[in-house]
Amino acid sequence: MRLVGSGIPCRQMVELVTDYLEGALSWRERRRFERHIAGCDGCRAYLEQMRRTLRVLGRLDEETISPEARDALLHAFRDWRAEAR
Ligand SMILES: [Zn+2]
Repeated sequence: MRLVGSGIPCRQMVELVTDYLEGALSWRERRRFERHIAGCDGCRAYLEQMRRTLRVLGRLDEETISPEARDALLHAFRDWRAEAR
């Protein structure tokens, strides 16, 4: 798996977003997360989308993210990386 920036792959970022927004990450994970966000447009857009969802619903859980949306995002990342190469 290709690593971006500080070393967290985008796929893992998707999994960390919920914990990040709930403040469940350790400071070390949070720093790596924020460093990745700073350099990755795709993950930043995803984080913003999740933030909006959280604001609307007041909470986040796995059901909030449809499997389709998650798959589409991961495919988008793959395409984007393929183009960048
Ligand atoms: Zn990313």
